[in-house]
Amino acid sequence: MTDNFIAPKPKTGAPYDTIIIGSGPAGLTAGIYTTRGALSTLILGGTKWGGQLMLTTEVENYPGFPEGIQGLELMEKFRSQAARFGAEIKLEDVESVDFSQRPFKVNAGNMGYEGKSVIIATGADTIWLGLESEQKLIGRGISSCAPCDAPFFREKRVVVVGGGDSAMEEAMVLTKYASEITIIHRRDAFRASDIMQKKVLANPKIKVIWNSEIVEIMGEMRVMGVKIKNNQTNEVAEMPIDGVFVAIGHSPMTNIFQGKIELDEKGYVKKMINAKWPMLNSLSSIEGVFVAGDVHDHHYKQAVTAAGFGCQAAMDCERWLESLKT
Ligand code: NAP
Repeated sequence: MTDNFIAPKPKTGAPYDTIIIGSGPAGLTAGIYTTRGALSTLILGGTKWGGQLMLTTEVENYPGFPEGIQGLELMEKFRSQAARFGAEIKLEDVESVDFSQRPFKVNAGNMGYEGKSVIIATGADTIWLGLESEQKLIGRGISSCAPCDAPFFREKRVVVVGGGDSAMEEAMVLTKYASEITIIHRRDAFRASDIMQKKVLANPKIKVIWNSEIVEIMGEMRVMGVKIKNNQTNEVAEMPIDGVFVAIGHSPMTNIFQGKIELDEKGYVKKMINAKWPMLNSLSSIEGVFVAGDVHDHHYKQAVTAAGFGCQAAMDCERWLESLKT
């Protein structure tokens, strides 16, 4: 079934029903739902639009694409689906926000925009190792998502960097595919929970190199090996491998929201249940400002969960705007 529905645009000088900040799976899914809910919608997508999937090559775990799909192509589909229903999409970086009164104000690309509501979907960035040799090989053997990319490393040798729960989880996922997994950790003890550490240390496929850091990732078109420095002896050894999984943490993209909205101790936007609106699950600390995706989600960080959160925030936003009319 097709329809030709297009969401309205705001009248000249009037605020948008909603401004969505971010254009990854959460923001664009929110845009698909808000426009189909007949809300005038502006998506401020950032100069680097599309989120983390734009750095990925093949995506094999997004439902609906049994043969897999390139990350860029998937995000272009999200974007054209939101545009099809009338979302106005501007690829500008948001410089500042003012949530102190409604309509909310959002400044981007030297323009000021007003929204009756805002959906924050700015995502989180993987913290990478910061090596010069790393950037060119991301998506070519370097990954930060084992559930997404482990199947590409069937019967291959990989390393996982980090000593937290994420690193343990990545290593465990990889045991289903890779032939050999080596965790490289900079200290002599993991910070991961006991139960996760025990699982990892008991798994015969996983080895650990303690007190060590990767100082170079070798390879031109794909990862061929790593140079590992023992930070107690300063000795550097080369290790031929096919993949590097970086699991040293994530950083939520919330700089512009500091002091404007409640963030947790790690900088993620806090979701709050507002006594007036107990049924709305995606409200932030400010009524009318909703949150979706990795910018609040420490745990799942998957494109499909981000898209789900985007849907939830849009439906909550629509319900909240509707209730203001009564
Ligand atoms: P994390 O707990 O902050 O751990 C990051 C790890 O990376 C630490 O071991 C740290 O080493 C290491 N590291 C940091 N910077 C590094 C660098 N430049 N080079 C080398 N190593 C570096 O992060 P996370 O593992 O992503 O977990 C984040 C939060 O999510 C945690 O609260 C965690 O419990 C939670 N989580 C829970 C689950 C679960 O329950 N299943 C799964 C995943 C995450 P040091 O130890 O030396 O600082």
